[in-house]
Amino acid sequence: MSLRFEESQLELAHRILSAGPICDECLGRPYARVGRGWTNGQRGEALRTAHPDVGTPGTCWICGGLFDGATLWAERALQEASGIEFATYLFGVRLSPRLQEMESLFAKRFPSAEGESMKHAFNRAVGKAFEAGLPHPATVDFASPDVSFVVGLAPSSLRLHITSLYVYGRYRKLTRGIPQTKWPCRRCRGRGCTACGFTGKQYPESVEEWIAAPLLDAAEAEMAHLHGAGREDIDARMLGDGRPFVLEVCAPRRRSLDLAPLREAVNRHAMGRVEVSELSFVDRRTIAMLKGVDAAKRYRAAVEFDGPVESDRLAEALSSLCGEIEQRTPQRVAHRRADRIRRRRLVHASGETRDSCHAVIELEGEGGLYIKELISGDEGRTNPSLSGRLGVGARVTELDVLQVVSDAFPDRTRSVDNSEPLP
Ligand SMILES: [Zn+2]
Ligand SMILES: [Zn+2]
Repeated sequence: MSLRFEESQLELAHRILSAGPICDECLGRPYARVGRGWTNGQRGEALRTAHPDVGTPGTCWICGGLFDGATLWAERALQEASGIEFATYLFGVRLSPRLQEMESLFAKRFPSAEGESMKHAFNRAVGKAFEAGLPHPATVDFASPDVSFVVGLAPSSLRLHITSLYVYGRYRKLTRGIPQTKWPCRRCRGRGCTACGFTGKQYPESVEEWIAAPLLDAAEAEMAHLHGAGREDIDARMLGDGRPFVLEVCAPRRRSLDLAPLREAVNRHAMGRVEVSELSFVDRRTIAMLKGVDAAKRYRAAVEFDGPVESDRLAEALSSLCGEIEQRTPQRVAHRRADRIRRRRLVHASGETRDSCHAVIELEGEGGLYIKELISGDEGRTNPSLSGRLGVGARVTELDVLQVVSDAFPDRTRSVDNSEPLP
């Protein structure tokens, strides 16, 4: 199909060509929607040929020769991206203030309803040249590309961003004393000191690190963040069907990972400390979703009393506890949380004594209920409490989360095997 221009369009081209030196790309841009299967450069060339009597040689007064550099930018991007796996990409350009000014001047002087902006045309031109140079097929993706490039013009720079991978799963933490995420050493804040043995860490291991290690290897990445649907205390286990999480693997050089063997690798590698369920890829919005769920939780607590407690009295006290619990921010977290009073419902409480001073208790409560304080009373800050009801000091010696309950999670919450014994 040949390119056909209407009389008014040819007249516009005449005026544009008379205004100063211009490149074919910029001359063609006001006609970007005229004819199919043509490049702006070809449109510009056709219009220039139609007006042999006008036009000035020289550097384009609008883009300053920007489009001549498209191939060079594409080559730079190909170098940056070499060795990185991706199927989709996106280019973006930061125009200099001067170019922005020229562009708006051009649009104002020669308005066209069929035009394309300098930015848009340039991003597409570089993308085309980039695709042509790739050893494998890739397509442009405006919403969530695997890799994206930002071309900076003044000063000249090319920034490559590799989109993170997001892996959903549930973890079980079978050992006490492991934090969910890596904690920087309190003394050196992560730089490394004698107190932390120069690891920079407060705890030698974390759920995050156990899960991340095999995935980092497979993805050829260096950093990962674990985003959990809430977190249990460091000394609490996470049992049942586990706690939902998203592991964000930053800047992966490999992204087509086979998750089934990686799950096995995590479970083998963590040697019974941490276990993960089936893993699946999700997008980053799942993180916000997990953080937004205020899931109810079921717990099992080993409790120690300061004096003897009979099993009938325990059962009575527990059933009378169900309902609204008023909790002032616990002393143990007061240094990092605002001091306020909140109300959460305890929906289930039952248990049995092991001997006169020990019991095992199961509880289910709304998200945010502090269990240790519900048992101890936290010196009157939690009301009612088990200790208050019994009139004897009580404290949790061991705590397990049995279930994180919500049907908002991607895999729901399945029924739970409740038969695991306390150690
Ligand atoms: Zn130009
Ligand atoms: Zn340290």
